[in-house]
Amino acid sequence: MIDGQGRTIDYLRISVTDRCNLCCVYCMPPEGVEWMPHADLLSYEEIIRLCHLFARLGVRKVRLTGGEPLARKGLPQLVAGIRAIPGIESVSMTTNGIALAEQLPALLDAGLSAVNLSLDTLDRAQYAAITRRDKLEDALRGLHAALDAPGLRVKLNCVPMGENDGQLVPLAALAQDHDLAVRFIELMPIGLGGGLPGRTEEEVRARLEAAFGPMIPCSETLGAGPGHYFTLPHFLGKVGFISAMTHQFCHQCNRVRLTATGFLKTCLQYETGVDLRALLRGGADDGVLEAAIAAAIQHKPLRHHFGDAAVQRADERHNMHQIGG
Ligand code: SAM
Ligand code: SF4
Repeated sequence: MIDGQGRTIDYLRISVTDRCNLCCVYCMPPEGVEWMPHADLLSYEEIIRLCHLFARLGVRKVRLTGGEPLARKGLPQLVAGIRAIPGIESVSMTTNGIALAEQLPALLDAGLSAVNLSLDTLDRAQYAAITRRDKLEDALRGLHAALDAPGLRVKLNCVPMGENDGQLVPLAALAQDHDLAVRFIELMPIGLGGGLPGRTEEEVRARLEAAFGPMIPCSETLGAGPGHYFTLPHFLGKVGFISAMTHQFCHQCNRVRLTATGFLKTCLQYETGVDLRALLRGGADDGVLEAAIAAAIQHKPLRHHFGDAAVQRADERHNMHQIGG
């Protein structure tokens, strides 16, 4: 559907759980967080019912995220249920990859189209420091399982945060020998992200060009998102950037987000949206739900104001592990 600013909204990101098996420094506090009771999360039946309505309103692509989506039992069942909805063209997932190697065969059978795997470093000690868990080997097994899966589109997401400056070149180098898009995501001042020294796209590019030579912009877009991509000499894959801070892309935003507890968030920064779980559990029929979704999308904010203290009314109810990035 078209929002109040004339943008086409055809992409829905669904956080299926607030739980996670890692505790990344920019996402969760060291002491962890209190997980939501399971009954507060949308059930798979509720998610699938909502997805039918979103598809009727024009959503074509769905991404499952978290928390860690693979921490929720029976995810292939959800993937298959969403894939079967008329109008839905792809179901993808953003994961830390820890449990991916084990679960990938069932997810592929269910119709998973693509995987984005988050990995900020290839150094074991640094990985343990950033994620507060010593699980780099599991993440790498997940990455290689995804790369070996025929037909699965794979992207790697890295958040440059100062600490991993020395790992940006080794991570980009993964795209040298693999048909993989390695993307650098500018740290956003959401939750704990505000306390770390993120790196800008220009800073990362300077490091990569010093190592690999000039980066050549690609006209091609990959997937449904705001990433822009470059090729490098002798690279099989691509290097991309998602630069919400220095290259704002809100004018072409195509997405809305459903939190694990069923709040439809129409902008990553703000609390604007609608509590669909309250409507669902209050007995609303499909017509009421569809109208509520359409009204929320009509009022989707024009843009974020990260970094603009004067207008920075951040969402204080939802953190990144509840929204899903
Ligand atoms: N657990 C899964 C994972 O890590 O891929 C999915 C959820 S995680 C919240 C989704 C993405 O958000 C990850 O790639 C993570 O690096 C990114 N992220 C979390 N906090 C962020 C922040 N403040 N700024 C930019 N990206 C962030
Ligand atoms: Fe978990 Fe992803 Fe947050 Fe890291 S970024 S703590 S993997 S939800």
